[in-house]
Amino acid sequence: MTQRVQSIVIVGGGTAGWLTAGIIAARHQGRMKSGFTVTLVESPSVPIIGVGEGTWPTLRSSLQKMGVSETEFFRNCNAAFKQGAKFARWTTGADDDAYYHPLMLPQGFTQVNLAPHWLGGNSGRTFCEAVCPQGQLCDEGLAPKMITTPEYQAVANYAYHLDAGKFAGFLQQHCTTKLGVRHVLADVTRVNQSERGDIRSVDTQQAGEIAGDLFVDCSGFSALLLGKTLGVPFKDCNDVLFCDAALALQVPYETPDSPMASHTISTAQSAGWIWDIGLPNRRGTGHVYSTRHSTDDQAHDTLMRYLGPEHAHLTPRKISFRGGHRETFWKNNCVAVGLAAGFLEPLESSAIVLIELSAKLIAEQMPANREVMDIVSARFNDVTHYRWGRIVDFLKLHYVLTRRTDNAFWRDNVDPDTIPDRLKNLLHLWKYQSPWFFDEFDRLEEVFPAASYQYVLYGMGFRTEVEPGENAGTEAMAARLMNDNVALTRHMRSQLPKNRDLMKKIFEYGLQPI
Ligand SMILES: Cc1cc2nc3c(=O)[nH]c(=O)nc-3n(C[C@H](O)[C@H](O)[C@H](O)COP(=O)(O)OP(=O)(O)OC[C@H]3O[C@@H](n4cnc5c(N)ncnc54)[C@H](O)[C@@H]3O)c2cc1C
Repeated sequence: MTQRVQSIVIVGGGTAGWLTAGIIAARHQGRMKSGFTVTLVESPSVPIIGVGEGTWPTLRSSLQKMGVSETEFFRNCNAAFKQGAKFARWTTGADDDAYYHPLMLPQGFTQVNLAPHWLGGNSGRTFCEAVCPQGQLCDEGLAPKMITTPEYQAVANYAYHLDAGKFAGFLQQHCTTKLGVRHVLADVTRVNQSERGDIRSVDTQQAGEIAGDLFVDCSGFSALLLGKTLGVPFKDCNDVLFCDAALALQVPYETPDSPMASHTISTAQSAGWIWDIGLPNRRGTGHVYSTRHSTDDQAHDTLMRYLGPEHAHLTPRKISFRGGHRETFWKNNCVAVGLAAGFLEPLESSAIVLIELSAKLIAEQMPANREVMDIVSARFNDVTHYRWGRIVDFLKLHYVLTRRTDNAFWRDNVDPDTIPDRLKNLLHLWKYQSPWFFDEFDRLEEVFPAASYQYVLYGMGFRTEVEPGENAGTEAMAARLMNDNVALTRHMRSQLPKNRDLMKKIFEYGLQPI
């Protein structure tokens, strides 16, 4: 029982496997000389999923901590900036129906809640415009930094859009050459367990038996270790979030100089929504839909109509998925990360950020021996359950405020029976006070903070009642912050380059390393 945890075996070499390997290996570099090992086993024949192009700003610090050069990352992964998401046609379905969920917090967010001031005022500006410059930067196709801004630093907060296929290969190269991760290309054919149910080793077709102390299941939807071997059941979320299929398609730009959006565009359709992501060399697009509310042919027509006749010759790839997650994430000496742990529709790019946070938690809390592992796993399960629950609520929020009735998809989405109780309660509360620090957003690393809820709620026209006199004590500060925002927006618009121009410069000259 006091067996030391020295040998980490990761099964799967997609984004989850390589990010987990890199984050653990970087954190435990100092132990490598005394026998700590990270081994990644990956099938040479089972392909990675190859989608997943939108990320969260956490990826900047994850890459930086792994010692990755941001310039090399941009160049090798065809990566680009992401400053948030624009949600079009989600509220009414009309041509002018759109709002932003930017990555910058509202001005002075830790000092004063600007939402009641915006609600009580009459500025004629959207909530996003009134409290943060980023929506306007996106509207004008501007980048979130300049060529003189060092790697990983920002003028406006940013995440990335990236080529998922290239990202796994890039991380593999970095992890194996710089961080000492051992890479085994082999198919796992059998999982061997000890009497108490721990995983002792995996048998592989090409490389024999591989033993380990802690196994990380990054085997994708097959969940080879946690699901198939340890029998941890899957909890469906399809009763809340209906989408269960996607048609993915890569689309060329008209010309190499075509404008490139620095935000994800998510456009609601009759039975789902379409993502549109600008990479330097192409767009990544796809239609996520509910097969209960649309046939594949209808979904195909919807995507092709969105893209226009010039792309009619392209054939999308269909990916079916089951929305939900494992009932527990770490059992015995096996923890699942990535699609093996679960998947929810990619509406807010929540999958890769959850991979990063899970890998970080494993790395930080790495149990010293088998005896204390169950204490760590209980903690991991508690935090991870909380995160999945919050993400389900946040994704559902995008649907429950719709006024669209054009398809059963939208009508079913507002059925109270499909809304989680916690979200129902919060929506009730938010009629009288706007989300801020007290809304259970109490975890250190909240995936979607209260600011995210504000952007979606007020972007979709939700109203919170403001009591007479409620704003009096903070009125002067709020007015100053909103004026600062006008000045900051003006300044940023005059300074920041076009997104396409900055990407060209990064590819040509690189960013200044830090
Ligand atoms: C349509 C769609 C859009 C998405 N968009 C986003 C997005 O915008 N943002 C975001 O954050 N996420 C997104 N995701 C999720 C994202 O793609 C995944 O979370 C991410 O790619 C991680 O996948 P993975 O590594 O868990 O699994 P995979 O990429 O499927 O990798 C599984 C690995 O396991 C290996 N394997 C399987 N069986 C065996 C075996 N027997 N032996 C050895 N190895 C084996 C495979 O070879 C492979 O290396 C999207 C997902 C879908 C379906």
